[in-house]
Amino acid sequence: MAQSPKTLINGCSDSRVDPAILTSAGPGDLFVVRNVANLVPPYERGGGLHGVSAAIEFAVQGLKVENVIVLGHRQCGGIRALVSGLYADSDSFIDRWVSIARPAHFRALAAHPEADQDTLCKYCELEAIKISLENLRTFPFVAEAIRSRGMELVGAYFDIESGRLLEFDEQKNEFVNLNV
Ligand SMILES: [Zn+2]
Repeated sequence: MAQSPKTLINGCSDSRVDPAILTSAGPGDLFVVRNVANLVPPYERGGGLHGVSAAIEFAVQGLKVENVIVLGHRQCGGIRALVSGLYADSDSFIDRWVSIARPAHFRALAAHPEADQDTLCKYCELEAIKISLENLRTFPFVAEAIRSRGMELVGAYFDIESGRLLEFDEQKNEFVNLNV
C-alpha cells in the first residue's frame, strides 16, 4: 500500500522535538524531514547534494501533501551555534548549514540589540522559521502547488520550556498560541 500523508513536517534533529510525538501522529500521517535547526535551504540547482530539497520535491510533487510545516523550537542547538559563532571559521558542516539562517540572526539583532545571547537565540529561532518559509516559496514546484491546489505553508514553534505550541500568524507577523 502506498503512503499518502497529508503533511510534510520539516523539523529539527533535536531528540526532544519529535514531530510525530508532538502531533500525536500515527504511521502514514506525516512525511518528516529533520535536520539541524529545522532549516529549509533556498532553491538552488547547482552544486551540493540537496537532501532536504529532494525530500520537499518528493512530498510536494510526488505525494502532493496539503500542508508543509516548518517546526522550530526553543533551546535549538543549531541556532545557538549560529548566534554564538561556535563553529565559525572552521571547516564545520554545521557552520555552513546554519548559515542559511544568518538573515534571521541579523533581523533578531536589529530588532533586539540589547538582548542577551539566550534571548537573542529565542528571537533567532522564531525568525529562522520565517526564513525557511520564505525559502520554501523560492522552489518553483512549491509556488506552483500553493497557486494551483492551495497547498499551505505553516510556521510552528514548540517552546520546550513552557510546553506551548505556537503558530506563525502571517497577517499579524507574530507567533500566536496554537490551540490543539
Ligand atoms: Zn534544534
